Amino acid sequence: MTALILDGKATGEALRAAIAEDVKSLIAAGGPTPSLVAVLVGEDPASQVYVRNKHRACQQAGIAGDVRRLPAETTQEELLKVIGELNADDAVHGILVQLPLPPSIDARAVLDAIDPAKDVDAFSPVNVGLLVQGRPRFLPCTPRGIVELLSNYGLKSAGKHVVVIGRSDIVGKPIAMMMAASDGCCGPDYANATVTIAHSRTQDLARLVGTADIVIAAVGKAKMVQGDWIKPGAVVIDVGINRVGELLVGDVDYEAASLVASAITPVPGGVGPLTIAMLLRNTVTAAAARLRSSV
Ligand code: NAD
Repeated sequence: MTALILDGKATGEALRAAIAEDVKSLIAAGGPTPSLVAVLVGEDPASQVYVRNKHRACQQAGIAGDVRRLPAETTQEELLKVIGELNADDAVHGILVQLPLPPSIDARAVLDAIDPAKDVDAFSPVNVGLLVQGRPRFLPCTPRGIVELLSNYGLKSAGKHVVVIGRSDIVGKPIAMMMAASDGCCGPDYANATVTIAHSRTQDLARLVGTADIVIAAVGKAKMVQGDWIKPGAVVIDVGINRVGELLVGDVDYEAASLVASAITPVPGGVGPLTIAMLLRNTVTAAAARLRSSV
């Protein structure tokens, strides 16, 4: 078997084109131009690239993007003050704090300070709580991108066994919650799974992965998931981004797994491009909520 390659780049472009149309409709309906402010502390090169890419994607979708650059020596108090100003600014609909923050700053305290109505990464405890209760305001970007990708290719999760490897707040936990929910952003066919969460203390991961109809790997260890772990015909979603020399590779041994799986995401070009698209989607949702609250 040779797996179908799930093209996140093409799916992301289509979603971004649809979001650009939604921006036009929102403005035509008298709404504001959605605006997103990214806060970047320090000079981390990878963070600079991420923020630049997000800024460019905003512009292409008709979203006003701004970047607040702060020096690496910024104190937590100073950063919290900036967040407070952005919270109070009605022209700002989405706030994104680029992680990682310098070690002297408590990232949790900063993320908690973002107004939940502007928390387009969906990291605040309020938004996580709403997600867990099945009434999300925003869906976290990477998990939502995964569901959109499955839906784009008609790969239903309802009734299937999904094994999520990784339990981070950003990917593992929320995607597990979304897969197990009774409904979701792409309808009940793309939720309603039986979900197992695997993590660093899971015993016999290879056997567990072999029971999965859908494997979602979000670990951060290059090619950790072996091809012969995968059940023939399973769907493999590889969230991992690992730098090996000059190359970016996923958490799954792509060459081996694609001989066994029915469908697989490449790295790069799989889940990655969808994350930014979903950030734009959440920013438009935040701006549209402002229109609704003003009428
Ligand atoms: P994290 O470090 O916060 O979490 C990693 C998880 O992997 C932990 O929960 C840990 O328990 C688990 N783990 C570690 N070793 C394991 C093992 N041997 N067996 C099973 N589980 C194990 O990472 P994260 O933020 O969730 O990111 C995971 C990967 O996804 C990284 O490579 C990251 O770069 C990538 N990522 C990609 C996107 C994207 O847009 N494509 C977005 C976010 C993260």
